Amino acid sequence: MCKTHVLSVSASKAPFEKTMIERRQLRPDDVSIDIKFSGICHSDIHSAHGDWAGGIFPMVPGHEISGIVKAVGQKVTKFAVGDRVGVGCYVDSCGECEYCLRGEEQHCSKGNVATYNSLDYDGNPTYGGYGQNIVVTERFVVHIPDRMELDVASPLLCAGITTYSPLKRWKAGPGKKVAILGMGGLGHIAIQFAHAMGAEVSVLSRGKDKENEALSFGADHYFSTINTETFNMLAGRFDLILNTVSAPIDVDVYLSLLRVDGTLINVGAPAEPSQYNVFSLIMSRRSIAGSLVGGLLETQEMLDFAAVHGIKPQIEIIRADQVDEAYERVLRSDVRYRFVIDISTL
Ligand SMILES: [Zn+2]
Ligand SMILES: [Zn+2]
Repeated sequence: MCKTHVLSVSASKAPFEKTMIERRQLRPDDVSIDIKFSGICHSDIHSAHGDWAGGIFPMVPGHEISGIVKAVGQKVTKFAVGDRVGVGCYVDSCGECEYCLRGEEQHCSKGNVATYNSLDYDGNPTYGGYGQNIVVTERFVVHIPDRMELDVASPLLCAGITTYSPLKRWKAGPGKKVAILGMGGLGHIAIQFAHAMGAEVSVLSRGKDKENEALSFGADHYFSTINTETFNMLAGRFDLILNTVSAPIDVDVYLSLLRVDGTLINVGAPAEPSQYNVFSLIMSRRSIAGSLVGGLLETQEMLDFAAVHGIKPQIEIIRADQVDEAYERVLRSDVRYRFVIDISTL
């Protein structure tokens, strides 16, 4: 066992405090990572606030982890001490089911082990990346490309793969008209991926205040959703709409913007059930879909793609004592576009 400093909450909605936890003894296939940066994802806030059932406290959130390998178990082959690495939303899966075998560990039929607020296969709670060290099975660690900064890499481990995976699966690319709905932590990265994949990218967002930034991220068009005329003008236009908004939307209105065979893909998750009229699907053979992060191989591919294309989350680096304040700011949508904790300040 190895003790490490972390930021934890003792109960739902409690403030963060600096505490110590124990990481497990290094197993033969484990990598011990000194964490340098940890991104703040909206799901950290839902978890720490107990918005989703089953919160395990004390809780150490964080699944956008970047750092340096400190030690490796004797059977580790992919990593060496000093390597620049990342860890995302999962730290274990069965490795044997059909989904694990095809590299889609996020859909493991045994149920995978989330990086925090989860129980590992021995029944021990998992603690995430708001801390100085983490021990993770080699299979769930990825290499951060040389040309990518560690702080910039952090948000890609969740927000990046969450948007890259569906854009790739639904073939965002040349000749495709893709709309990104919402321009926050997910949306501002999605614009960059869709643009780099060669699609014609439109941003659908409320105010006009983010227009210039959207264009700088690679958007071709920017439309305000406050203006109802927008929806008439864009009817039947898009092949894909990637919905990154976690508030409820009028699903029928957005479906009307899709072409025949178009797909509305949800990666933002409102707490309330959605409603739509089935005719919105039938009349133009449209689909509604969802997507959950991505597998480990795809996560590595996403990081390599981001490095080649210069895709960078826009981040605001904060100290360890600013996390409570950062949570409040995320809830007020007062962040452009992702907070990243500098773990050296812990
Ligand atoms: Zn996340
Ligand atoms: Zn599995």
